[in-house]
Amino acid sequence: MTDLPYRLVNEDGPAAMVIICDHASNRVPAGYGDLGLPPAAFERHIAWDIGAAAVSEILARRFNAPAILSTVTRLLIDCNRRFEDPNLTPAISDGTQIPANRDLSQAERETRWRLYHQPYHAAIAQAIDRKLARGRSPVVLAIHSMTPTMRGIARPWQIAVCWDTDQRLSAPMLDALRAHSGIVVGDNEPYSLDPNEDYSVPFHATRRGLEQLQMEFRQDEVADAAGQQRWAKLFGDCLEQVLGH
Ligand SMILES: [Zn+2]
Repeated sequence: MTDLPYRLVNEDGPAAMVIICDHASNRVPAGYGDLGLPPAAFERHIAWDIGAAAVSEILARRFNAPAILSTVTRLLIDCNRRFEDPNLTPAISDGTQIPANRDLSQAERETRWRLYHQPYHAAIAQAIDRKLARGRSPVVLAIHSMTPTMRGIARPWQIAVCWDTDQRLSAPMLDALRAHSGIVVGDNEPYSLDPNEDYSVPFHATRRGLEQLQMEFRQDEVADAAGQQRWAKLFGDCLEQVLGH
């Protein structure tokens, strides 16, 4: 198996869209063992965004767009965090201590940043650059999933749009999702897009003036193939509408 920290899906897809999935994988790269955690920890949301990779891949095929997916667990390094952020290499995640990240040296943080975080982001930048070189300004679409409960509180939102100041796509997407009766849509709930926390969309889209969407799908809704298809279709239909296809 390749040890690349990212995976490209539909690399040459011509759409004016680049799909990114920061937390697609629960994989620990060779040499890092189990990070001091039991196997069950890697099945939990602390290790990855359950269902997000599958949703990203379905959307990449439907829209014929490239997708870049991280292949490293966020317990080793969180690709959606800045270097200065302590949660780049979390010592504790939703109440679980990560022994391998305790008292981590600056050198080790730098190593992980160089080996895993930055190559993933270089692949995203390259995909965006290729679009721009062809005169097409791509939409940056970030796919995440969220745990159905956090610290004992159930989350009612089945899908959420996370935005900061750029509402070019987030506002019409919220309208399109709300037009589907019977689903609960989060508007910056449970998270907003926060440039002080989020790295990927601010770095790749906001900084370059590109249109953007950051989505959260609730993990119990996208835990199996049927749910992934259902939610990718519902969201994809809305996206098609928003982009004016
Ligand atoms: Zn995520």
